[in-house]
Amino acid sequence: MPLHTYRCKDCGHEVEVLVIGKRGVPEKCEKCSSKQLERKLGGFSVSGSASGKSRARSSGASVSPAPT
Ligand SMILES: [Zn+2]
Repeated sequence: MPLHTYRCKDCGHEVEVLVIGKRGVPEKCEKCSSKQLERKLGGFSVSGSASGKSRARSSGASVSPAPT
């Protein structure tokens, strides 16, 4: 998900926007109307699903209710 964080250089106000293509990019700060916005680079990776996919079916033992 292209979620970018922009930070106003003037007042330090941060805004998170969902950027799709070139839409959604804020032109100015919504607080002080400054145009000095810089994009912050997130230090986290969004796509990280390479590890264990599903560990639900670990054992093949079928759980059947004991008929009494
Ligand atoms: Zn600002």
